[in-house]
Amino acid sequence: ISSSNMGNFAEKKPHAVLIPYPAQGHINPLFKLAKLLHFKGFHITFVNTEYNHKRLLKSRGPKAFDGLIDFTFETIPDGLTSMDGDGDVTQDVPSLCQSIRKNFLRPYCELLSRLDESANIGLIPHVTCLVSDCLMSFTIQAAEKFALPNILFFPASACSLLCILHYRSFVEKGLTPLKDVSYLTNGYLETKVDWIPGLKNFRLKDIVDFIRTTDPNDIMLEFFIDMADRVPRDSKIILNTFNELESDVINALFSMLPSLYPIGPLPLLLNQTPSNHQLASLGTNLWKEDIKCLEWLESKEPRSVVYVNFGSITVMTLEQLLEFAWGLANSKKPFLWIIRPDLVIDGSVVLSSEFMNEISDRGLIVNWCPQEQVLNHPSIGGFLTHCGWNSITESICAGVPMLCWPFFGDQPTNSRFICSEWEIGAEIDTNVKRDEVEKLVNELMVGEKGKKMRQKAMELKKKALENTSPGGCSYKNLDKVIKEVLLKQN
Ligand code: UDP
Repeated sequence: ISSSNMGNFAEKKPHAVLIPYPAQGHINPLFKLAKLLHFKGFHITFVNTEYNHKRLLKSRGPKAFDGLIDFTFETIPDGLTSMDGDGDVTQDVPSLCQSIRKNFLRPYCELLSRLDESANIGLIPHVTCLVSDCLMSFTIQAAEKFALPNILFFPASACSLLCILHYRSFVEKGLTPLKDVSYLTNGYLETKVDWIPGLKNFRLKDIVDFIRTTDPNDIMLEFFIDMADRVPRDSKIILNTFNELESDVINALFSMLPSLYPIGPLPLLLNQTPSNHQLASLGTNLWKEDIKCLEWLESKEPRSVVYVNFGSITVMTLEQLLEFAWGLANSKKPFLWIIRPDLVIDGSVVLSSEFMNEISDRGLIVNWCPQEQVLNHPSIGGFLTHCGWNSITESICAGVPMLCWPFFGDQPTNSRFICSEWEIGAEIDTNVKRDEVEKLVNELMVGEKGKKMRQKAMELKKKALENTSPGGCSYKNLDKVIKEVLLKQN
């Protein structure tokens, strides 16, 4: 079904309700999936938290989403009180996760009832399926209540999903919670993890890091164990990865969850849809993008610029920021650094005039950028990243090698794959030092290792393109999941 040939028969359209976990790195890929489904003829309801939707309208402009046809936004409260405060509720991950478990089911069910009432009077098509972020596992209950198929979407790496599905085994083996904090630094994290099929040469430090806790009632550990318990074996799950990128992991996952549909990388799959549609240019960045950096990139040589961005949640100390700053300055390489105003813990970003004079026009610092456009700019030669899964896949889509400074969650796991499996990056020590940054930046941009990493990144880009082109696995999996699940009558 294409959006054009549905014509005026809106009431006959399939209607998907999509809900992301309410943070930037989850909203962006699910919105891409929403666009794809819309293009395939679905009426879409995209559900944000009130807080995030308000931010979206602020960053994109109040009318940004007006006039869309068969694509509507709905909101539910996030149950947190700091809605209008200065703090960013998406960054307080434990509070948000706790609130999701406690507070989201009721308003979500109320929304589904409201949609049903609107459909009964012919305003919109009846809801035919739910598409929910795996982390929003309360939707499984809602789907049962409303007798709707619910396909789960896991926006992060397959390797991180595999870790989480095995979390219980770490508890059973007594590996988590840790006895005390000294276990974080006494070499314990080097312990081999050799009982999970699909993970090669893994150590505790490579596992999604919510197991690094001393608290037996740790909110995050409980949240993910609960999620793993709730996901039934017959769940249908869409993955934002592609077969050749994580083949061993995906095979291991298949034996646990037989109905998996890898359709990534989503940025490339989306490129397969016509771009003149009104939706095509719409993004979901919660921060206002500074586009002057694209002009600045125009003035730089091909592959000469290091792009530095730590995503939406990472924070660091001022000392760490200064080590990065001077490492970049001393490398003498041009760089574009995205510094969110709240990047530094408990303080503001202060860079001395000595530093600013040193970098002069060689470095540009802005708050937020259109990352995919930046990564695809010919001037970009390398990406210093916190290893969020979207950043990694966007970098692979652009064939750009990486320096990794994983911050939390799935990022250490992703970094392990980047550096050891795919060999398209190198890791910077958690305790970052300027000399190491300088050395690794030089290796990445002009060294032999960097050259090899770039070559491998380009090879992965090629495979990603094949997977998302007509006839490729990801391309076919999207059609398959639509046919087998989303259009299937209950
Ligand atoms: N992003 C962006 N501009 C920025 C920083 C981030 O467009 O300056 C986008 C980026 O393209 C990605 C998302 O925000 O799609 C961040 O997701 P990721 O998984 O990389 O990291 P997270 O923010 O979840 O830690």
